[in-house]
Amino acid sequence: MDIDSIRSKFPILNQTVYGKPLVYFDNAATTQKPQSVIDTLCRYYETLNSNIHRGAHYLAAQATDQYEETRRAVQQFINARNHYEIVFTRGTTESINLVASSFGQRFLNEGDEVLISAMEHHSNIVPWQLTCERNGATLRVIPFSDKGELDLEAMENLMNEKTRIVAVNHVSNTLGTVNPVKQIVEMAHSHGIPVLVDGAQAISHFAVDVQELGCDFYCFSGHKMYGPMGVGVMYGREELLDQMPPYQGGGEMIKEVTFERTTYNELPFKFEAGTPAVGDVLGLHSAIRFMQETGINNIATYEKELTDYATEQLLNIEGLRIYGQARQKTSVISFLIGNAHPYDVGTLLDKLGIAVRTGHHCTQPIMDRYGIPGTVRASFAVYNTMEEINILINAIKRIAPMLM
Ligand code: PMP
Repeated sequence: MDIDSIRSKFPILNQTVYGKPLVYFDNAATTQKPQSVIDTLCRYYETLNSNIHRGAHYLAAQATDQYEETRRAVQQFINARNHYEIVFTRGTTESINLVASSFGQRFLNEGDEVLISAMEHHSNIVPWQLTCERNGATLRVIPFSDKGELDLEAMENLMNEKTRIVAVNHVSNTLGTVNPVKQIVEMAHSHGIPVLVDGAQAISHFAVDVQELGCDFYCFSGHKMYGPMGVGVMYGREELLDQMPPYQGGGEMIKEVTFERTTYNELPFKFEAGTPAVGDVLGLHSAIRFMQETGINNIATYEKELTDYATEQLLNIEGLRIYGQARQKTSVISFLIGNAHPYDVGTLLDKLGIAVRTGHHCTQPIMDRYGIPGTVRASFAVYNTMEEINILINAIKRIAPMLM
């Protein structure tokens, strides 16, 4: 892989902060955007802006075509069976809220159970709590080991005739664990229970095939896969989506409206009320093109090299502990140094030009599980380099004595 050439596509990387070259290691929060994605957004507003699906004019027809082409590109990207199983949302959070609310309304009753894991992002916890509260259902939680691997035996024991859905992340944004989703789906399906997968941290790191995984819902955000903010995807199996009520009411999602009764549009429009973020959807198409041109397997292989190297180097630093040492991991490394507060570490690294994230990363139950206030998290993307990791390692070696 020609990393220099890849880096040259990302204008934001070519700058200094506090007089130091920017080292951007906050990719799990959001990735940077290649010029092609930025150009698509500009081109949309410069030449194409119009509301889709309803206009009788040229621009509306062009914008609609490109919007629907993106749906097919996403379908192909995750290997969904049908293009109308792809619903555009604002992001993972909205996708999960959509499913929790709509699936919950249709399938969750008093006394039912929803099974999630203890390593979920708050956006795969709170929507389920809200829906459980509304429907009189109970939330159950699959624990994980010290290394950060889900306890599948416990999961087996937690499933019963009251369990209506299992919701787990594909990759933990804090621990980096890649969960065995295919196996989880097989286990749940053997009890007739559907599975939602939060793919926010998986989609930019390795190839995702929803038919191969067998999952019933798969949710992700454009901005974590080199695309724009404000757009995401909810993939759902037709059979379930057909049975679920609309999430929001408004324009686009109807067939016929009278004051007595409204009938709903077909999939996917039933779930796409109102004007969507058309320019951002087209930007997502450019992001998919960027990933496909770079090669998803190349990205996975290169990021593994970065992660293995960084892990080895970090573990050589005295007093440094890594949280999340699963056998299958992506490029997320959470750590603490001695008794230093993660915020202090993050602030000092920032002054050296290194962007990391500190805190609970919207996974407070993980912090409770380990009894820590938070971690420092470095997360890598395809444009990061070994030299940048060396800069991080040297910086930590420099600041560690000040903090311990
Ligand atoms: N799930 C996981 C695992 C995440 O990492 C994130 C983002 N940090 C989300 C869900 C929420 O994504 P968004 O904020 O883009 O909706």
